Amino acid sequence: MKLQPKRVLEARQQRSWTQDELAVVSGLHLRTIQRIERDGVASLQSAKALAAALDLTVQDLGTKENPMKSCPECGSSEVYRYDGEVQMYGGAEDLLPGLGGMLSSSEVCPVVCGECGRLRFFIAPTSLAKRKRATQWKLVE
Ligand SMILES: [Zn+2]
Repeated sequence: MKLQPKRVLEARQQRSWTQDELAVVSGLHLRTIQRIERDGVASLQSAKALAAALDLTVQDLGTKENPMKSCPECGSSEVYRYDGEVQMYGGAEDLLPGLGGMLSSSEVCPVVCGECGRLRFFIAPTSLAKRKRATQWKLVE
C-alpha cells in the first residue's frame, strides 16, 4: 500500500525519534523505515506496525493532505474555498488554453488565503482531464 512519506516523517519528528528509534519501537527494520519515508511503499503489516508505533491509524499515514488546505505563500491554514465551482465563459480559452469545454467554458474553484490574500484557482476534474491532450502546458521543472 502507499503511505504519505511526509506524514510518516512528520509524525516521527514530532516525537523527536530517529529512524533507528522508530525501527525499534515499531519492530520494523531500519531499511523498511527508510524506504517508507522515501517512497511511501509499505506492506499492510508494516503500515499497521508503523501506525501503532506512532499512535496513529494507517489512514492517518495514508491520506493526502488536501492541496487547498494550507496557503503556499504564508503557510496559513485560514484558507477559504468558494462553495461550488465558477463557470468561466468568455476568456476561458485565453486563460486556460486547451482545457475548456464546449463553448469554451471551464469550471474553476477559487481558493483565497484569509491572511495574505493569495488567490489560487483549482480547475474542475473534467478540465484537468483535458490537460493530458493539451500541448500548450509544460511541466514545471
Ligand atoms: Zn497566505
